[in-house]
Amino acid sequence: MITAERKEFDEIRQMTDPHENVLVAGCNTCVAVCLTGGEKEAEQLAQQLRIARNHDGIKGKVEAVTVLRQCENEYLDSISEQVERADIVLSTACSIGPQGLVFRYPAKRVAPAMNTNMMGYVKEHHVWTEYCAACGSCLIAATGGICPVARCAKTLLNGPCGGSQNGRCEISPEVPCAWQEIYDRLAALGDLDTLKRIVGPKKWNLSNSGGPRTMKKEGFEP
Ligand code: SF4
Ligand code: SF4
Repeated sequence: MITAERKEFDEIRQMTDPHENVLVAGCNTCVAVCLTGGEKEAEQLAQQLRIARNHDGIKGKVEAVTVLRQCENEYLDSISEQVERADIVLSTACSIGPQGLVFRYPAKRVAPAMNTNMMGYVKEHHVWTEYCAACGSCLIAATGGICPVARCAKTLLNGPCGGSQNGRCEISPEVPCAWQEIYDRLAALGDLDTLKRIVGPKKWNLSNSGGPRTMKKEGFEP
């Protein structure tokens, strides 16, 4: 899932204070699961803004509304009346949400309440770990099902580097070395011969480095 954390309240206020009517728009999918931007959190942020703005004598209303997914026009269509009333829409979705709002409502000011950080796996309750960087050409069949693109600090396709110590990455003793994990897994599977094959140059043009990407499902009209 996509994970995102709420920005500091001061930053949110800098974006919204110059505007009278604010719509806090929540998203009830990924950010609701990671307890940062769903209906409950959008309502809480709206209430926090109301109190702070009222205290500072800022005119206008703060409304809140939540859709199932801000990454689809159908759901954004359903809040057109609330968007119309607002001078600025503050999205608590991942950063696809505010950009979807910009696309759907081009005349409206939009601001992000969130910092989007990664595609994460729920490794423990309420703990997400980055497992994929959406590189566009998955190679984990060659690395025991563990992604060196997202999980190795140097994105090494053939590792480890010389900084791997006691199974930890050189960037921090808190961070496991992805290549140690790859080695351990391949050893456990009896597949260590896999490591004798050098992974060749990767098609980075299929990743975001090749520019913004579009996926089109064949056989369906846009
Ligand atoms: S190799 Fe690419 S697509 Fe596969 S898990 Fe890693 S980042 Fe994601
Ligand atoms: S120590 Fe391991 S995870 Fe860290 S950069 Fe080197 S190979 Fe990658």
